[in-house]
Amino acid sequence: MTVYILRHRIFGADAMRYLTKSRFNTAITCPTKLAYLDDKAFANADRSNEFLKALADGGHQVGALAKCLFPGGIEISAIGHDAQVEQTNALLSEDNVLIFEAAIRVGRLFIRADLLRKIGTTIELYEVKAKSFDSRESDKLIIGAKGGIKSDFKPYLYDVAFQRHVLRLAFPQAKIVTHLVMPDKAKLCSESMLAQRLLIKRTDGSGVEIEIDESLRDGILANQMLHILPVDKFLDQLTSETLNAGRYAWAFVDGIAELESHIDGPTFPSRIGNHCKSCEFRATKLEAQQGMRDGQLNCWTQTFRLPNDALAQGTVFDLYSFNKASEVIDSGKIALPDLETEDVKLKSEKEKISLSHRQWLQCEESRGAIDRPFLIKDVLAEKLEDVVYPLHFIDFETATPAIPFHVGRRPYEQLLFQFSHHRLDQDGRITHVTQHLDSRPGEFPNFDVLRELSQALSDDNGSVIHWWNHERTVLGKIKDQLIESTDVPGDRDQLVAFIDSMTGGDESKGRLVDLGMRITLPLVFLPGTKGSSSIKKVLPALLKFSNQLKERYGKPSYGSAEGIPSLNFHDHTWIQYDDAGLIRDPYSLLAGRFNDPDLDGTEEADENNSAVADGGAAMVAYSLLQSNLLSPVARKELERQLLRYCELDTLAMVMAFQALQEQTSVN
Ligand code: SF4
Repeated sequence: MTVYILRHRIFGADAMRYLTKSRFNTAITCPTKLAYLDDKAFANADRSNEFLKALADGGHQVGALAKCLFPGGIEISAIGHDAQVEQTNALLSEDNVLIFEAAIRVGRLFIRADLLRKIGTTIELYEVKAKSFDSRESDKLIIGAKGGIKSDFKPYLYDVAFQRHVLRLAFPQAKIVTHLVMPDKAKLCSESMLAQRLLIKRTDGSGVEIEIDESLRDGILANQMLHILPVDKFLDQLTSETLNAGRYAWAFVDGIAELESHIDGPTFPSRIGNHCKSCEFRATKLEAQQGMRDGQLNCWTQTFRLPNDALAQGTVFDLYSFNKASEVIDSGKIALPDLETEDVKLKSEKEKISLSHRQWLQCEESRGAIDRPFLIKDVLAEKLEDVVYPLHFIDFETATPAIPFHVGRRPYEQLLFQFSHHRLDQDGRITHVTQHLDSRPGEFPNFDVLRELSQALSDDNGSVIHWWNHERTVLGKIKDQLIESTDVPGDRDQLVAFIDSMTGGDESKGRLVDLGMRITLPLVFLPGTKGSSSIKKVLPALLKFSNQLKERYGKPSYGSAEGIPSLNFHDHTWIQYDDAGLIRDPYSLLAGRFNDPDLDGTEEADENNSAVADGGAAMVAYSLLQSNLLSPVARKELERQLLRYCELDTLAMVMAFQALQEQTSVN
């Protein structure tokens, strides 16, 4: 086994502040952030645990695998900037050398290059990214229809462009050639348990080590899975464009000079705009209680000269799917109660709640003008009646690992490893009927899970209700896998027919009914949800207004002999009240999914769209179950919690359906 310590930041006596890759990458989203970046007093949603991030996005594994592409590379292991630069320079005095984590410094610019190869007077840079890429499409993925660089690739290319700039300054005589190294969706993995052979290990503090199995050192599997893309032509195009950093704009080289000259201050004054919506320097309730400062709030209150509590009723950034925040802010408004109809360009429709209407309802709620659900009642009643009983409520848990766990699969391929299923009969009887969790290490789960689902839904032709389009999308991807698979299951035709019966086709409607995106979003506005129709926001909001749910779920009958049959709960009461008499969020009644405070942060990270992407909790769970990091007891406990969470996900849909039905009959 070879252990590479991938990121180990230790600041010694030479801990001078530099414009590093990561500071540059942050600053080009908004240079004001440089003031908060190193100040531990400010909360940072991206300052997440490295172990959690490694499990969720596979970035460290991709980095370690890429090193296998270049046998014989020498790791810069010195501690502190000066020593790292010295070690790198000594190696670069050779004619031909390959260096991992080379340290290059010019003035206050400092980079650690993932892979640097010097061949005579040429220096090749290889930046490794856990970014989904498909070599069959190559340039089309990077250049848009109008010829510009696509926005999702810009951050990766800017990262390399910054490094190229530093290398050109450091080695003006050399020819610099740059590359991105990414997992390639065009490639099939020829061996099982690849990801498991890049073992993620937690180190002291929040660091991560990857233990590489010796079987990978020949680079054969790395070559299979990774694509090396030369990027100089893209960098030339990108660096000739204006560098828009939040609401600052510079020519590329001038931007670097500006950022470098501010590295010790003064700070860049806040220029509030659309980009602030995704600012990572915001504190959760818990962090605020612990005394952490909120950089976002700091920017806003200072810019608008407001007291800290002036934005308690919400801001323009709380508006659902609103992309005109910059315009409204330029007119001098940020607090939600100050907005007027023209700010959201209100345009109401009869048969549905338009986007601008939803945003306006949020403004009204912030002023206290709305405190009840707002529904397009007749259309909602029609939709809820247009279903076939018995109703089946399903929810999937899925993962898309950067490095495949299974033979014959591709990077970022869709995995379906769990579902839960509740049935609601016409007479109101509810049953948690089936569930399935397939976490066997090295076993591709999709076809077995699909087979179980097909059996669970085969007794009748009732509607199959899900929330949002994820389940439909996943079924579509599994159909493609079934059609393309070289290892054809004997019942492939039946499984494909089952998927078609769910999703429908040109002539048939299919059994799937999207209760979230197709029914709740266009027809229901609930106070307390910030306009969101996520089931985790909708459920607590609906519970407040539903007397029937309070009655039905307010006693210990869930999982009892006379109550609702459950596969994971016994005598459970879902509606419980806190000391202030408010209904507790049912999800808060479950213990953490991971029984680990660091990993349980993924739940909140999922909700906040921060460093851990959507679905991060499921990805982390599946990665853990595929690894040998868990003891048998911990593994069992994680499986138990996954089953309980997934059961609540489908029960939440049942409750939402019942509460919406009730709302249609309320005057
Ligand atoms: S709130 Fe806006 S201006 Fe302030 S740091 Fe965040 S993105 Fe920049």
